[in-house]
Amino acid sequence: GTPHQQPETTSTTAASVDDPSHPLHNHRRTVTDFDYGEAIGEGSYSTVLVARDKKTDKQYAVKKLDKAHIVKNDKVKYVMSERDALSRMNHPGIVKLYWTFRDNRSLYYVLDLAPHGELYTFIQKMAPLDIDTTRYYASQILVALDHIHSKEVVHSILLDDEMHIKIADFGSAKILSEDTVGHVSGTRSFVGTAEFVSPELLLSNPTHKEADWWAFGCVIFQMLSGRSPFKAATDYLIFQKIKNLDYEFPEDFPQVAKDLVQRLLVTDSEKRLGSKAMGGVDSIKAHPFFQGVDFDQAFQQPAPAIA
Ligand code: ATP
Repeated sequence: GTPHQQPETTSTTAASVDDPSHPLHNHRRTVTDFDYGEAIGEGSYSTVLVARDKKTDKQYAVKKLDKAHIVKNDKVKYVMSERDALSRMNHPGIVKLYWTFRDNRSLYYVLDLAPHGELYTFIQKMAPLDIDTTRYYASQILVALDHIHSKEVVHSILLDDEMHIKIADFGSAKILSEDTVGHVSGTRSFVGTAEFVSPELLLSNPTHKEADWWAFGCVIFQMLSGRSPFKAATDYLIFQKIKNLDYEFPEDFPQVAKDLVQRLLVTDSEKRLGSKAMGGVDSIKAHPFFQGVDFDQAFQQPAPAIA
């Protein structure tokens, strides 16, 4: 490694350095401080591994990025901006970046491990969910999205060991790139999934926050019905349906949730619930679907049992 990656001798008190969330820890671990286990995910430039900190026995997810591949594909800026965005976040609903280090081949990001994987996969497996369970996940997504909205567009929503949601990856660069429509096919994450793309993104007229509230409407629809609202054989047909707002509720869809989804799946992003013109996130929080929810306590609630 290069000199600045060596553990520094500092005059910082032991207490602060022992706190793994302390920012100084970004410089205080290296490749050999961890035992690496199974790969739990693959990205375009990365592999995510389970890892154990030898000093504390604590488990993490280590995202290992291939330097040569990143440089070759001209993604250095994207990777750096993702890292900077992650390192600025500190919220129970967002995957935390503890340390970064490197060796000759790779960059390593040590992250909170979300052992239950993608929310999206969970929904696909377990939906339809009942309205209380849907409200539970929707409340956490809302709070976490609200927290990061001034910064980036959300990418994936994971589930931690207590089945609380944890957002990982801030893929705005990808969402907003020119090849967005070509690129979304095959991705399986939240906003990144073709089925959840908002009409204004299809018209390359991006309005970050409002696009997330559209996807939020899609995810609520999917939790309650077990399918995404705009489903078709090809991405092209999906995008046609999105542009035409061509979807239907199942018969048994709860009325109060139907009303919320109808106010989120609004083509004109300025008229969409959650948009600035509609009163921002508070306009969603105030909807009767969320009646009785204490958003400040969203991450203190235990996950509902799934039948
Ligand atoms: P791309 O780089 O192509 O945009 P990506 O951002 O999903 O893809 P990664 O961040 O490397 O790529 O993630 C790859 C996979 O690893 C994801 O599918 C995700 O489910 C899983 N994963 C990422 N971070 C964590 C984590 N902290 N805990 C558990 N699983 C994770």
